[in-house]
Amino acid sequence: MGAKAAKDPVPRASIPINPVFNWSVGNWMENFYDGMKEGKILGSKCPQCGRVFLPPRMICERCFAKADEWVELPATGTVQACTRASVKVADNGDLVDLESPEIIAMVKHDGADTCIAARLEGDDASVGMRVEAVLNPDAENVLDLLAAYRPLG
Ligand SMILES: [Zn+2]
Repeated sequence: MGAKAAKDPVPRASIPINPVFNWSVGNWMENFYDGMKEGKILGSKCPQCGRVFLPPRMICERCFAKADEWVELPATGTVQACTRASVKVADNGDLVDLESPEIIAMVKHDGADTCIAARLEGDDASVGMRVEAVLNPDAENVLDLLAAYRPLG
């Protein structure tokens, strides 16, 4: 058998596309975003076990009950984990280098049982650090309503 150059059996074409996606965030996240537009941080509560979810979840993963009680949470919380980011996702979906690294923190708000992630102001962070949410109620993109966390004290 003679050696034969491998040939790709599937013809291929490169087509440049730049899709923009718009999708429903769902009723629970919509309620969460509507709350932040009014300066409120709303979590959902499981009526069976009492766990409070922030960001809100529709179903409690422990009880499988519908977490349809809403509670307003304080803006304060505690850093549970953090990392330093050197890139971010631009509006067009591309990864772009940040001019200076940012800290992304997982924060458990006082009264909540789960964590939410956002940028932490400053360049110092540690687990256990007390922080406060900085809301931007006038943000055009709902993802920017929770602008950042700010260290307390
Ligand atoms: Zn539950």
